[in-house]
Amino acid sequence: MNKNLRKAVIAGNWKMNKTRPEAKALIEELKPLVAGADCGVVICVPYTNLETALEATKGTNIAVGAENCHWAESGAFTGEISAAMLKELGVQYVVIGHSERRQYFGETDVTVQKRVRAALDAGLQVILCIGELLEQREAGITEEIVGMQTKVALGGVTEAELKNIILAYEPVWAIGTGKTATAQQANEVNHYIRTVVEGLYGKAAADAITIQYGGSMNAKNAEELLDQPDVDGGLIGGASLKAPDFAAIVKAASR
Ligand code: PEP
Repeated sequence: MNKNLRKAVIAGNWKMNKTRPEAKALIEELKPLVAGADCGVVICVPYTNLETALEATKGTNIAVGAENCHWAESGAFTGEISAAMLKELGVQYVVIGHSERRQYFGETDVTVQKRVRAALDAGLQVILCIGELLEQREAGITEEIVGMQTKVALGGVTEAELKNIILAYEPVWAIGTGKTATAQQANEVNHYIRTVVEGLYGKAAADAITIQYGGSMNAKNAEELLDQPDVDGGLIGGASLKAPDFAAIVKAASR
C-alpha cells in the first residue's frame, strides 16, 4: 500500500463542548498555528457552533464539519438536523457512526448506512467511524466487527462516491479513556479495513481511501501513530479542544 497516494486528514471532534464565544476564541487561536499545514484540517463542532465556525474559518485552510446528521430530507424528527440543512449552511464534512452515538443514542450499522447515504446525496464529505468494544477485542473478533461495520455502512456506496468518505478506525476502549491503541494495533486494524475496502471496490480505491485512527491521540503520541503506513491522519476528541495540542498533531501529520 502506498501512503503517498493519500493525504492525511486531521479532524477535531469537539463533541458537546464550547459555547459560541468559546468556539470563536479556540478557532482564532488555532488559525495561525495550522496555517500552511500539509494535511487536511477539519473541525467538527456542535450544531450551535457551525455558523460561528464557518464565519471564523473563511479564507483559511480549516474546513468545518458537523458531528451527525439525520437520514431523512425533512419531516417529523424532532431534535434532528438533515444533511441538506448542513449543506445549505456551507458545512463540508459530517461525522457519522461515532461510538458515542452508537453507545448512547441507539445508532446501529443500519442507521449509520442510512445517514451515510443521506450525507452523500446532500454533497457532504463523510467521516465514517468504526471500531470494536473492549470485550470484542478480548474475544478476538475485532476484524469481524470492523469488517461488518464497514461493509454495512458502505452498502450502496459506489466507487465514485467513495472519494467523499474518510474512514476513522476508533477502538471504543481508546476513546476518551487515555488508553491509546499501540501504533502497531492501530496500523494492523487500519490495514485490515483497507483490505475490506479492496474486497469491495478494488485496489485503486483501497489505496486511495483515507483511513484515520482515533482514540486518545494527542500531541505526544501522534507522531508514532501517524508514521504507520496505513494510518492516514486522525480523528481527535479531547486534544482538539486545546489549540496548541491540536496544532501539534496537525504538525506531526504534515511531516
Ligand atoms: C473521538 O471523539 O473521536 C475521540 C477519538 O476522542 P478522544 O481523542 O478524546 O479519545
